[in-house]
Amino acid sequence: MKRLLLALSALLLSATSLAATPWQRIQHPIAGAPVSVGSFANGCIVGAQALPLNSPNYQVMRQDQRRYFGHPDLIQFIQRLTTQAHNLQLGNVLIGDMGMAAGGRFSSGHASHQTGLDVDIWLQLPKTRWTAQQLLKPQPLDLVAPDDKRVRTRHWQPEIDSLIKLAAKDDEVARIFVNPAIKKQLCADAGADRDWLRKVRPWFAHRAHMHVRLHCPQGSSECIDQAPPPPGDGCGAELQSWFLPKQPGSAPVKREPPPLPAACQALLDKHLL
Ligand SMILES: [Zn+2]
Repeated sequence: MKRLLLALSALLLSATSLAATPWQRIQHPIAGAPVSVGSFANGCIVGAQALPLNSPNYQVMRQDQRRYFGHPDLIQFIQRLTTQAHNLQLGNVLIGDMGMAAGGRFSSGHASHQTGLDVDIWLQLPKTRWTAQQLLKPQPLDLVAPDDKRVRTRHWQPEIDSLIKLAAKDDEVARIFVNPAIKKQLCADAGADRDWLRKVRPWFAHRAHMHVRLHCPQGSSECIDQAPPPPGDGCGAELQSWFLPKQPGSAPVKREPPPLPAACQALLDKHLL
């Protein structure tokens, strides 16, 4: 009996430590003209759309999580990119997390993806479509070697370069985050056409997927854009700095979330009475 009680309390503890956020309780998009509010890591969205779950050009993973909502600009971008990828026969494009129905903070995983303008796209392009079971429990392919300095050549394919390049050349894309080792490979593979590399930013993790972020949409006056990436292809000293021995305190520090933009707080107050 005592053991059972212990087990039960451990279960309760782990349930509460996966801190739910109020945004998860909003199951459907907030009606209204599409507007992204706030910043990528502290915001929300009105008038989000669901990415169509059935398409010949892509598959949506972990549909049970309901993280397939976004601004119509994001839906259209995914459709545009995957149609091009399909026409070029790059393989089956696997779509990961976008945002929740009203955006906002996830209980786990990302700090961003809050304004309906971010999407994770996996960097494996299987030649055949995945089964429902594979989509529900997807197995990421770690593209980065254990020393973190280069990609695993066994898993790297030219189609990955092509997919990232297609995304980076899209006018609505502001930034793409990938592991530094992946950026290094892109720098090595790119020929004379290199302007698009500017948008591809090295970042922690991102070993199996690219995270694509769009510019603030037209008409979203409360959406906060980031400054553009520094000029150049970003293949020089900045990239090299990621491979130097770690400075203490150089990893991102977890901070308390800032207060919500007023429009997002009002939306929560109204929909979660
Ligand atoms: Zn992401």
